[in-house]
Amino acid sequence: MKYLDEFQDPALAQRLLAEITAATTRPWAIMEVCGGQTHSIIRNGIDQVLPDGIELIHGPGCPVCVTPLEMIDRGLRIAARPEVIFCSFGDMLRVPGSAQDLFAVKAQGGDVRVVYSPLDAVQVAADNPDREVVFFGVGFETTAPANAMAVHQARERGLRNFSMLVSHVLVPPAIEAIMSSPECRVNGFLAAGHVCTVMGSWQYEPLAARHGVPIVITGFEPLDVLEGIRRCVLQLEAGRAEVENAYARAVHADGNPTARAMLERVFTVSDRRWRGIGEIPDSGWNLSEEYADFDATKRFALEDLRVPESSECRAGEVLQGLIKPSACPAFGTACTPRTPLGAPMVSSEGACAAYFQYRRLDPAPAVSHG
Ligand code: SF4
Repeated sequence: MKYLDEFQDPALAQRLLAEITAATTRPWAIMEVCGGQTHSIIRNGIDQVLPDGIELIHGPGCPVCVTPLEMIDRGLRIAARPEVIFCSFGDMLRVPGSAQDLFAVKAQGGDVRVVYSPLDAVQVAADNPDREVVFFGVGFETTAPANAMAVHQARERGLRNFSMLVSHVLVPPAIEAIMSSPECRVNGFLAAGHVCTVMGSWQYEPLAARHGVPIVITGFEPLDVLEGIRRCVLQLEAGRAEVENAYARAVHADGNPTARAMLERVFTVSDRRWRGIGEIPDSGWNLSEEYADFDATKRFALEDLRVPESSECRAGEVLQGLIKPSACPAFGTACTPRTPLGAPMVSSEGACAAYFQYRRLDPAPAVSHG
């Protein structure tokens, strides 16, 4: 397929691999932030062909995985209400809340619908003026512009029966939190190309400078990932810590100004709780004052709902790269895609799902912090 095959070329992959191997003189730990990159790495066995010194650490960039349990439970409470049509992307339906998931609510009679765009949910609201229509707005900066546009359009169309359960998270504060942790072992980052297509590369400059880490923006195909690793290793070996754009076919320094303008209008930066990690300051978006009437959490009075995280699921450690998924005692036994204990086992970007799907079943030792 044109524009895809070029980025999966085995001969080019071998060349990049040879350059990485030749450049590596000592161990380096590189974190790929995005769950899409994690799946590409595991699916293509990239981590298994790198030179011994290069370790890839899987980061917190799976938006479904970092959605806190209380937010899932808010969605479940809302979806169970008889007057509600609850719209979501399909990947949220099997994510376990504290007692059940959205599939169970649907099986019990809840009107839960899978949509392919938040704008579809706006149309559902227009078609059902006597029902409350709620869209589950989950994601990083990538999905946020469409969600912002949906809320804006609902207001423009006078659809007072539409609201959004907002659980948006931001990548740079997560990198800041990882780098500030005393347990941090990360030497360099692969940043997510789609996030930077929206937000640009400028946000990462202060992080690279403050923490002395190279940050290479790259994509999701095998050659994208290998090129990102190659550039990261070259910087590390040379003692440089810069932001590099290895995804120039989509990313510009200032991102997408139109999308950013819509985001700034509809959303406001807020503190956000991350599943298994806890609260990270200024790491999320909520609806701005101008659009606060469309906030489902407020409309259904669920601001105070708090739920303790599962003691069995070690998603927090997986999401921070402190353990590999197969080191979780429940991996592949109590927790499988059919019987998930945590979101990373069911999300299409979850590290536990990648390890299970591509048969990385051997228990890995806990990562040393020494
Ligand atoms: S294997 Fe299951 S229980 Fe363990 S961290 Fe992953 S999602 Fe959680």
